Amino acid sequence: MDAINLTESIDWEFIEHVKEESGQDPALCYQCGNCTAGCPYSHYFDYPVSQIMRLLQAGQKDTILNSKAIWLCATCETCTTRCPCEIDVAHIMDVLRIIARRENRVSEKDIKLFYDSFLDSVKKFGRIYEVGTLMSYNLRSGHLFADSDLGPKVLAHNKIHFLPKKIKGSDKVAKIFDRFQETLKKHG
Ligand code: SF4
Ligand code: SF4
Repeated sequence: MDAINLTESIDWEFIEHVKEESGQDPALCYQCGNCTAGCPYSHYFDYPVSQIMRLLQAGQKDTILNSKAIWLCATCETCTTRCPCEIDVAHIMDVLRIIARRENRVSEKDIKLFYDSFLDSVKKFGRIYEVGTLMSYNLRSGHLFADSDLGPKVLAHNKIHFLPKKIKGSDKVAKIFDRFQETLKKHG
């Protein structure tokens, strides 16, 4: 694991930005490590979630936004439920990922492509269309045959539908996406 360089200058604006977007106060964290102890993905993170919290307190914007951890987080919310200070840590991880994406800093490009494919499916059908999402992800990522061996098994068990099904009100879901895009444009 890389050493954390706390001698870098503190980016106070970044701390305030995360506080504002998440509604959480990272200063409450006293580094007990409970979140990291319960995080199922800690082994894969470059910085465990409690270190992300410490980096946030220290305003280490670049280290955080360039980290793999914020992309590998599965939003399982274990950290949130274990935090004795009632900090919604998982939401902070979400916000960090959103800021990274906005600033075009994506350390795990395949994960971003998966999110894009997932959201495209929700926008189009109002729900996830698994086969389409996987095909879209495989095409975008260049992993053309990834998990293709699982397809026949899953289809045989009737777990997913081969053809897409739109939900009632899918047009309203699409409008939520449009409103979000408009808001993004307004705020640059
Ligand atoms: S939400 Fe993310 S950081 Fe928190 S425990 Fe789950 S995987 Fe780890
Ligand atoms: S569980 Fe809460 S207080 Fe403990 S290290 Fe994680 S964020 Fe900080």
